[in-house]
Amino acid sequence: MPVNLYRCAGLWALCLFARPAHAEVDFRVTRVSPHVYALRPERLARVNSTSTVIVGSSYLVVVEAQPDRGQARRLVQTLRAKVSKLPIRYLVYTHAHLDHVLGAGAFAEDSPGVSIIAHEWTRERVLANGEADRKGMMDFVRQRAEGPDAVASEVSELRQYLRDLESSPILAPTLTLRDSLVLHDAGLRVDILSLGEGHTPGDLVVRIPGDGVVVTGDLVHDLEPLFWDADPDAWMATLNRLEQLPFQSLIGGHGDPQPGKSVLHRWQAYLQSLTALVKEQVATGADERTAVAAITPRLMAQLRGDGYADRIQKSRDGLMMTSFIGDLEGAIRGNVENVWRIYKARDTSAGKAPVPRT
Ligand SMILES: [Zn+2]
Repeated sequence: MPVNLYRCAGLWALCLFARPAHAEVDFRVTRVSPHVYALRPERLARVNSTSTVIVGSSYLVVVEAQPDRGQARRLVQTLRAKVSKLPIRYLVYTHAHLDHVLGAGAFAEDSPGVSIIAHEWTRERVLANGEADRKGMMDFVRQRAEGPDAVASEVSELRQYLRDLESSPILAPTLTLRDSLVLHDAGLRVDILSLGEGHTPGDLVVRIPGDGVVVTGDLVHDLEPLFWDADPDAWMATLNRLEQLPFQSLIGGHGDPQPGKSVLHRWQAYLQSLTALVKEQVATGADERTAVAAITPRLMAQLRGDGYADRIQKSRDGLMMTSFIGDLEGAIRGNVENVWRIYKARDTSAGKAPVPRT
């Protein structure tokens, strides 16, 4: 049975930890509102992402395709058993990262003719870089299965994950947008919005206004932000625009759905501190090592101070097995390194700008 998000809130810790650690467990289904369900797999030695299912009167919309076809097939089984038998008419990629894309083949098998919606940038990125991104992901997983730090109890699951990654078709979006698109289905309205750049240049937000729900991909979710393809300043501006939308529930691309705007406010505060501290270090001419050593403990102290560090750590522990967890401080250090490199590159290129000839 679906778990009611708000009834579950008081049992949060229990919900996170009371689960079997096995690859074949199905997805946890949370009914977030009358038309909206969040589906997330139990704790796995795989990248773990959350899909949203929007139930209309004659069709379904699924947001996020899962990280590989094997995982997505299990999601479809759960969806058919516990949510709805209606055809999936639309699948939305919130952005181009493969942990939100590579499972699309399972949705096309279940509902031939499904349209895949994404931002224009996402389509271009998937077409241009999809295979290279898959190879990068497989190298990362192979290292965890075969490297010196491999966790023996997780190796067979990681090998299956590699096979699933290799056999998953990369499906390009078939319906693209730059600003917005509205789906109408017998009184149910679904807004697909580009609020601006953030986690990538092509992030989408899906809004179900009648239900007070937003689906935010990796713009905001239940773990820490990642900056590989990000513009930190644009991201903050986009989060400010997201904050202007009225909503009661937020479903991010990873972890559990969140009531209200508290997770959004935490991300805004974190990005604000991270970018301010890095800009300060860049302005003093510090090198990367010095900057990272100075900033990471300050960010960790801030995160611990408002309880956010514990919240993220619990979510990380609840989502992924040892080979994928890493440690929170390492992840925050990675954030500082990424943002430092972004600002440093801007600083350097500004310094080297050619002097105009007079
Ligand atoms: Zn992402």
